Amino acid sequence: MKTEADNGLDIGELGRPGGVGIRCQGVVHLYRTFEGHDVVALQGVDLTIQPGERVAFLGPSGSGKSTLLTLLGGIQKPSAGRIFLGDDEISRMGERYLARIRSRRVSTMLQGSTRNLLPYATARQNIAFARLALSSAERRGALLDTDLLGRVGLEQQADQVVSTMSGGQRQRLALACAVSTSPQLLLADEPTSQLSHEDRDHVIELLHELGDDLGTTIVVVTHQPEVAATFPRTVTMKGGRVGAEGRDGAEYVVIGAEGVVHLPTHLAAEWPQGTLVRIEPEDFDRLVVSRPSDRDPEDTWEGDR
Ligand code: ADP
Ligand code: MG
Repeated sequence: MKTEADNGLDIGELGRPGGVGIRCQGVVHLYRTFEGHDVVALQGVDLTIQPGERVAFLGPSGSGKSTLLTLLGGIQKPSAGRIFLGDDEISRMGERYLARIRSRRVSTMLQGSTRNLLPYATARQNIAFARLALSSAERRGALLDTDLLGRVGLEQQADQVVSTMSGGQRQRLALACAVSTSPQLLLADEPTSQLSHEDRDHVIELLHELGDDLGTTIVVVTHQPEVAATFPRTVTMKGGRVGAEGRDGAEYVVIGAEGVVHLPTHLAAEWPQGTLVRIEPEDFDRLVVSRPSDRDPEDTWEGDR
């Protein structure tokens, strides 16, 4: 029988500070619908995130952000391609190992404030539930419920039932549950999209504080520019690929598989699909993209006749 040690799997000890790195290679994901046709949600994602890095995923609805997050969290497995958390390839792991990864090393806050909590349980019971998979030694080493609830400003709500809480309180509790196992990776899908500005800022501030304290790698999906602006790195998904990246405020388009490049959104309307362009190197670090203009007969199809 194979043991964990044989597989070289490091399930991670609780209390061990620090984040884990992520590597995606050619990740493809298809959903099979009831009608029997496939929806391509991801088509070749290549992405590396360093241990402890904080990244915001942006992009239009349907571009694959939530799908990528569930793959990183080991909730689904990719149809093709490879995903590594540290040295462990989660895209090849069996369900038993994945379950352990999910209960200890990675916490995922799903989209929507109702999906991450037990609605009829109290705040304290929800935290206890999130920690169920931990060993008693690990539980002893973890932050006390009261301290954790204090961190997210819910000390008064410790014994309050979730269904009676406000949206902001629920998201803060979901965050407390997510970090209650000291994960090396925290994934959050639109954690602030239904919150007031005040609650939004509070949740994001807490997220960054926890990152500062624990060194956790953090990936947040958001469509709110105010949220994205608090992250040093942004990854913009387009049509199931990484289309662009922002680093320290500068925007870069990412060259994809087979040389595919997405035009920045503000230019795409002026250069519609089907436009014929020329791409010529001007220097070793510069390409010129041009379309034939009407004024220059040399450059039109007429000129070829
Ligand atoms: P985003 O989070 O960026 O809005 P998603 O990852 O939710 O994007 O979706 C990407 C694509 O996959 C979309 O075309 C969506 O309709 C499709 N999709 C997502 N979940 C499912 C599912 N469970 N079954 C079928 N198609 C899905
Ligand atoms: Mg989504």
